[in-house]
Amino acid sequence: MNADQLREQLKFYRDIGVDELYVREAIPSPVIPVSSSIDEGVTVASALPSLAPEGDTLEKIRQDIGDDCRRCRLCEGRAKIVFGSGNEQSGLVFVGEGPGADEDAQGLPFVGRAGQLLTQMIENTASKEGIPIRRPDVYICNVVKCRPPENRAPQPDEMEICGQFLFRQLMAIRPKAICAMGSTAAKAVLGTKEGVTKLRGKWHKWRDIPVMVTYHPSYLLRAYNVEAKREAWEDLKKVLHFVYD
Ligand code: SF4
Repeated sequence: MNADQLREQLKFYRDIGVDELYVREAIPSPVIPVSSSIDEGVTVASALPSLAPEGDTLEKIRQDIGDDCRRCRLCEGRAKIVFGSGNEQSGLVFVGEGPGADEDAQGLPFVGRAGQLLTQMIENTASKEGIPIRRPDVYICNVVKCRPPENRAPQPDEMEICGQFLFRQLMAIRPKAICAMGSTAAKAVLGTKEGVTKLRGKWHKWRDIPVMVTYHPSYLLRAYNVEAKREAWEDLKKVLHFVYD
């Protein structure tokens, strides 16, 4: 790996929220802050794992996960791995947090109440805006592929371990835009600690792909969130017009 390739790879790690890397040799200090490594152009002969192999495909990623992935503790309570569904050539990918009970049982993302709301939001907004798409035309997946116990939020190590598959999915699809739903997805994709309220409605970037942050549909299901529903509709309109106009 030459200096330019290494710089690119370090930038990629920084983009996905990895702040420190551990290398086995060539650098006296065991910890390299990613940002300073990029800025200073450090040359390291370390063998960083490639997160996105050449010619990566969704099929290959699914195979790499395997049928009984045990890379993190979320394997303990899951019934089915929920990889993702939809159009694999889609210009738009929705990213949620993780599977719930219905998704865990069926092995498909967003099939419970929140999923039904997401379907309605996509299809009703598209129809009102004159955009001829339906839910199967987009791709939908989550940060973690196995259901967290009691529907808790995924923990940082779980997000980091399973996040490698999400990033490979995004790189394999290379959509025109990503819609990150909820704070876990925003945190995973943008590597930020900012809340959804602050991030939503504006364009951000993951690598060179525009990212819109909006509320998670399960948050919108709560009766008092009328204003959030209106805002989510605005966010969705922006994304759909950006991708399909
Ligand atoms: S959440 Fe991801 S990394 Fe963890 S066990 Fe499931 S598939 Fe494997």
